[in-house]
Amino acid sequence: MTRPPIPAPPYDGGCLCGAVRWRLSARPLAVNACHCTDCKKLTGATNLLMLLATREAFSHAGAVERWRKRADSGRELDIARCRVCGTRLWHEPLSSPALVFVAAGTLDDPSWAVPTSHIWTRRASPGVTMQDDAIQVPGQPVERQALMDAFTAIYGDA
Ligand SMILES: [Zn+2]
Ligand SMILES: [Zn+2]
Repeated sequence: MTRPPIPAPPYDGGCLCGAVRWRLSARPLAVNACHCTDCKKLTGATNLLMLLATREAFSHAGAVERWRKRADSGRELDIARCRVCGTRLWHEPLSSPALVFVAAGTLDDPSWAVPTSHIWTRRASPGVTMQDDAIQVPGQPVERQALMDAFTAIYGDA
């Protein structure tokens, strides 16, 4: 497929009401779509598109509320939402404190955010598009590195 190029950082985003703004000052490590049941519930949509990024390159302004979710695997993560409008903005995985997963739909310009990986594809809703160059993982990936390798294979190291 033809993909728009990944623009140079920084990337800015925020919630619906504008009370929370965030900035990512480095290229994402992966652009991952999760089709698990929890992500359907939490987004109210068919899947959740996330930018995997290093937390040291991520900052925000404005008040967020965090809600701790426990996955079937036992892994926990904090879900950060705007305290005013409730927009779901990013996840902080407790098992990987160096990483942050930013909801790609909250980018000011999400036009370049095309998945390089899809996980939990066995739960994918009918009609969801899978790019032919993106990897597909039926369940939870054993190693998150596989998602980052998929991104690098498509976009290179730059
Ligand atoms: Zn808000
Ligand atoms: Zn999920």
